[in-house]
Amino acid sequence: MSRSEELFRKSRQIFPGGVSSPVRAFKAVGGSPPFIDRGEGCRIWDVDQNEYIDFVLSYGPHILGHNDPNVLQFICDTAKKGISFGAPTEVELQLGEMVRSAFPLMERLRFVNSGTEATMSAIRVSRAHTGRTRILKFEGGYHGHADSLLVKSGSGGATFGVPDSAGVPEVLARETLTLPYNNPQALRDLFQREGDTIACAIVEPVAGNMGVIVPDDEFLRELRTQTEHHGTILIADEVMTGFRQTYGGVQILLAFEPDITTLGKIIGGGLPVGAYGGSADIMKNVSPDGPMYQAGTLSGNPVAMAAGVATLQRLKTPALYSLLEEKGRMLADGLHAISRSLGIPIRINRMGSMMTVFFTSEPVKDWQSASKSDTEIFRKFFKECLLEGIYLPPSQFEAFFLSTRHDDGVIKESLEKFHRALYRTREWLDQGRPETGN
Ligand SMILES: *Cc1c(COP(=O)(O)O)cnc(C)c1O
Repeated sequence: MSRSEELFRKSRQIFPGGVSSPVRAFKAVGGSPPFIDRGEGCRIWDVDQNEYIDFVLSYGPHILGHNDPNVLQFICDTAKKGISFGAPTEVELQLGEMVRSAFPLMERLRFVNSGTEATMSAIRVSRAHTGRTRILKFEGGYHGHADSLLVKSGSGGATFGVPDSAGVPEVLARETLTLPYNNPQALRDLFQREGDTIACAIVEPVAGNMGVIVPDDEFLRELRTQTEHHGTILIADEVMTGFRQTYGGVQILLAFEPDITTLGKIIGGGLPVGAYGGSADIMKNVSPDGPMYQAGTLSGNPVAMAAGVATLQRLKTPALYSLLEEKGRMLADGLHAISRSLGIPIRINRMGSMMTVFFTSEPVKDWQSASKSDTEIFRKFFKECLLEGIYLPPSQFEAFFLSTRHDDGVIKESLEKFHRALYRTREWLDQGRPETGN
């Protein structure tokens, strides 16, 4: 038994499924997850000394790769001054100013400890501001695990075939309306019937949690028009996309103007941080200025703020995002060429350095078409990649991420590994998909 297998066996006696977050248990792909010992740049090593090129990057935060020296230095310097005070600090203001200058629509913002807290609080302030209770989300959209948002919520639930979580009161779930992503007509119909009863609509302006889906212009435009017309607050959930595609949000690239934005992942540089914010008028509802309560013992934690500040400082480098786009294109083009040569139909949805390879020949534009991907092929492909030393998210419905440390040489090396993995996947298909255990 490998050390990872031994640790996983023990972990299952301590943690549900052996993990602190479900997708890590490898349920969707089978087998035992490697326990990671350390990371450097674009690579990670497990406790059995296996080396992997990392395309998970902690599910998005590590856009600079593991252990960026500047980030590490600022974390250490800050920690030496004291790890937490439960009081305002200058570094918190510094990160706040950086976020606001990149997201001008976040006139006022508050730091929290996760993306989940950010979206949960954004919904609460929307309800407080409008005096309405119903909310709208889109099928396959994931916005963290707050009760009201665990309805048709993409990757985790989708992977396990549990669209709604147990333990969410039906009375609450009933207040959450869902519509298909990328369907402007469905939006018009719903808002015409009940727009005036909806407190807020929450959307991933580029979806990442049913696999990557870049929306049609008309969808986002219609969403803005309808919400504005009906006094519904529009929340852009940029927890994944914030600082991933440009210095700021995809809202800038897509000319999308939400009322509230939620952030997480990259702004914490790998430590637990989230943020929500919007116009001063909406945010004046938040305690202590207003009646909507929201608090946090460790919110604005100086060490986490330092990680964010140092990360954003590095991301200001002008050519950085066009380089990431180039690597993304190189990887996607390479994968297309390999799959064509082997006759395995794939669809790659990509924006910049975030992408998903779907095993289907049809375009993927919403949850319904995403769910047609052949997850059995994904499972085989994933296992072969792991053997090759490529660490992918262990679910069809997650995004691959690149970091600035995935240089051209690494992309080439990765494509050779992908080629071998897909070659063996082809053989397995030709043999009629024999069971491979687990
Ligand atoms: C990751 C993610 C969240 C949840 O963030 P956590 O920090 O895991 O709670 C919310 N929304 C989106 C779009 C995400 O990608």
